[in-house]
Amino acid sequence: MSQQSGVQQTPNAHNAAVTHALPSYLQADHLGPWGIYLQQVDRVTPYLGHLARWAETLKRPKRALIVDVPIQLDNGTVAHFEGYRVQHNTSRGPGKGGVRFHQDVTLSEVMALSAWMSVKNAAVNVPYGGAKGGIRVDPKTLSMGELERLTRRYTSEIGIIIGPSKDIPAPDVITNEQIMAWMMDTYSMNEGATATGVVTGKPIDLGGSLGRREATGRGVYTVGVEAAQHLGLDISKARVAVQGFGNVGGIAAKLFAQAGARIVAVQDHGGTIYQESGLDANALLAHVGRQGTVAGFPGAETIDANTFWDVPCDILIPAALEQQITAANAHRIQAKLIIEGANGPTTPAADDILQSRNILVVPDVIANAGGVTVSYFEWVQDFSSFFWSEDEINARLVRIMKDAFAAVWEVAAEHRVSLRTATFIVACKRILHARELRGLYP
Ligand code: GLU
Repeated sequence: MSQQSGVQQTPNAHNAAVTHALPSYLQADHLGPWGIYLQQVDRVTPYLGHLARWAETLKRPKRALIVDVPIQLDNGTVAHFEGYRVQHNTSRGPGKGGVRFHQDVTLSEVMALSAWMSVKNAAVNVPYGGAKGGIRVDPKTLSMGELERLTRRYTSEIGIIIGPSKDIPAPDVITNEQIMAWMMDTYSMNEGATATGVVTGKPIDLGGSLGRREATGRGVYTVGVEAAQHLGLDISKARVAVQGFGNVGGIAAKLFAQAGARIVAVQDHGGTIYQESGLDANALLAHVGRQGTVAGFPGAETIDANTFWDVPCDILIPAALEQQITAANAHRIQAKLIIEGANGPTTPAADDILQSRNILVVPDVIANAGGVTVSYFEWVQDFSSFFWSEDEINARLVRIMKDAFAAVWEVAAEHRVSLRTATFIVACKRILHARELRGLYP
């Protein structure tokens, strides 16, 4: 009823006339990640032309699975954890997106993350829909054996909806290559055949891809260089502040430092450090490898967590969790350029403040797409059982990121909109065009 074919209407007339209200669990009654995503869809809808009649489809995940994950703890007791896998959209191909293990994971967060994967995958034009998963758990409280049992039981529970041509998980916050190896093995044991293509981000010796671990950070760096060029910002003289020093922030910082930039401030869950002359990114990576946090890095000044947002810098890279840049701190940011390594770090209200202050934001859905791009390469290599060199992978990655950025830049200039809205325009048109071509079943 809400999507009759053959009737051309303006988006607003269409929405007012026939759209049903969203079910309560999908409404943006609080501005959590899902609420933020819904606002982003509303901002793009006026630019979708005739495809706007399908826009409602973006506001509802195709499929959401909640699973109970019981495991035996080392002390003999049984603990239950809540797990999720959400497939937001599969119009352009199988679901694709990471799995995060974090104590604050919720269904609505995973829904938003799955939707951002749909947009991201379409923005870089890899043939996937969007999906995401997670377990509400603090993995630091688990032993290695408990973590393995948790991963295996979760994989088995979501096994009914994942698969190499259905939905392909990958690493995200706190999950890593070892966890992907357990997921691949569990799925394969249940299927009775080794299925390397069911997850990406695997160890190299199990069908993983060269360059995958660094891919997200490399993509952040690549689009950062492109954006800096447009601003006339010289990377070799730039001061960079980074929030989150894991697989994304740490690698991006290393690449910016290699290009001559000064990493002046880094914040993570353990503390915030500052050094005006520039932190040694390689030494800091080694420190984090040993200590698990940037806190206590020799030679750096420790500053208050809230002061991080006032730090004099040219480039800010939020590479931790959602909703970090808000209306409460957006007016304090000194950077000229923000490159979103994290998913969903900026709220729509903060976006407006940053835009009014002429601060350029390269949004998550393009800035951190390097990870899933090399995941796509890994999946292709697994299918063909033919593996590429690291140089070839990096060259293809850089080409895709640059082309995607250039296309988005052009759309932003044409419509005089932010890079986020421009990325949503490019991506949502691709998703909804595929949806229209496929048609409504039955
Ligand atoms: N978790 C990463 C992301 O948010 C990568 C997902 C993937 O490789 O499928 O983009």
